[in-house]
Amino acid sequence: MAQGHSVDEYLETIYFLAFPIGEYTPRGAGSPPLASRVAEMLHVSRASAGEMLKRLEAEGLIERGARKEALLTDTGRERAERVVRKHRIIERLLTDFMGYTGYEAHERADELGDTFDDEMVARIDEKLGHPERCPHGWPVDPQVEQAENLELAPLAALEPGTKATIVRLAEHDGVLLHWFYDQGLVPGTSIVVRATQPAADEVTIGLNGGERSISVKAAAGLFVKPA
Ligand SMILES: [Zn+2]
Repeated sequence: MAQGHSVDEYLETIYFLAFPIGEYTPRGAGSPPLASRVAEMLHVSRASAGEMLKRLEAEGLIERGARKEALLTDTGRERAERVVRKHRIIERLLTDFMGYTGYEAHERADELGDTFDDEMVARIDEKLGHPERCPHGWPVDPQVEQAENLELAPLAALEPGTKATIVRLAEHDGVLLHWFYDQGLVPGTSIVVRATQPAADEVTIGLNGGERSISVKAAAGLFVKPA
């Protein structure tokens, strides 16, 4: 989007940082102030992110913590949850009704975010039969998502020998999301971790009776449920 990201897109990003899983977890020891992490996630400058965070604060959607981190207020959290839920329902409209692939659906749903109001989203949800998950495995209900986070781990964090089922795919990197589909690394797929070689940027997995290596970055974007 040329003129920058909307309030809703910022809230969505802050939501992922507030309920982290895998790669959305703050990086390194003494995690960086949130403005920089938000800027990194949205590919904008630190200054733009800082400016937008000020606006969100003025609108009562976030408050600043002791380290200037952005914390969702009750209002902000409620709106952020509405945004992520809507995104997931629109993705299902795109795949189930319009025939888009899973990787196309994510980007298209971002573009369509502001097109549908709450009442339209409620009608779409009804017509689709109240889908439980988006095409990439994320629960439509944010409460279900937050509870499920505790049962999941990024594939990159598993010990060799661990069997697991892919439950969710990281969505914010469109190239990686496309690649997951090309490789058959989709929700519901069973895998087993054979070996991890972080120095070689490699995780070897057993998949569909064969064996293959994927990058640590890819393994960090696959959220799995260990068997
Ligand atoms: Zn999705």
